[in-house]
Amino acid sequence: MKIRLAADLQPDSIVDGEGIRTVVWTQGCPHNCPGCHNPGTHDFNGGALIDVEDVIEELKTIENQDGITLSGGDPVCQSEACSMIAKAAHEMGLNVWCYTGFTYEMMLQNEKHRKLLENVDVLVDGKFILEEKSYDLYFKGSRNQRIIDVKKSLEEKQVVLVEKYKDEKDNSNHYEKPSYMFV
Ligand code: SF4
Repeated sequence: MKIRLAADLQPDSIVDGEGIRTVVWTQGCPHNCPGCHNPGTHDFNGGALIDVEDVIEELKTIENQDGITLSGGDPVCQSEACSMIAKAAHEMGLNVWCYTGFTYEMMLQNEKHRKLLENVDVLVDGKFILEEKSYDLYFKGSRNQRIIDVKKSLEEKQVVLVEKYKDEKDNSNHYEKPSYMFV
């Protein structure tokens, strides 16, 4: 099976989920969120088609990672290929985060999307909404998005958020011009 990717695998990310992560940038997204940070990933004919097996083999060579993050683009649009990669990542001892413009509830309605959910640990769901954009959020761009504990949500048959990322960040760390600057 092939997957359309927007870029090479990106190891060592600390902003696309918890810990140190390798990001799989999928190509193709139908959501067209105004203010999207990654418009180059929207075209379903863009990027490059790669064998899923090659992606998995490359993942095996990357050391010192806590997990992988399926991002894009919208990984849910290539849910079968992403499920295979997520499954392989779990076998390597890596946890799996997935970003999508769809909602968790929408994914439950589609058999292939649900299958992907069963291979994902944390889902960051929902479109990016410019009016709800904030820099005080953990690992997401707008307040409407949710950081979902998928296993618990499936078990409890309701959305369960990841407890430690429920609240907004303490904004006392906001950037201020530091006293050590010359000018
Ligand atoms: S879902 Fe993500 S990649 Fe797609 S348009 Fe919205 S912000 Fe951009």
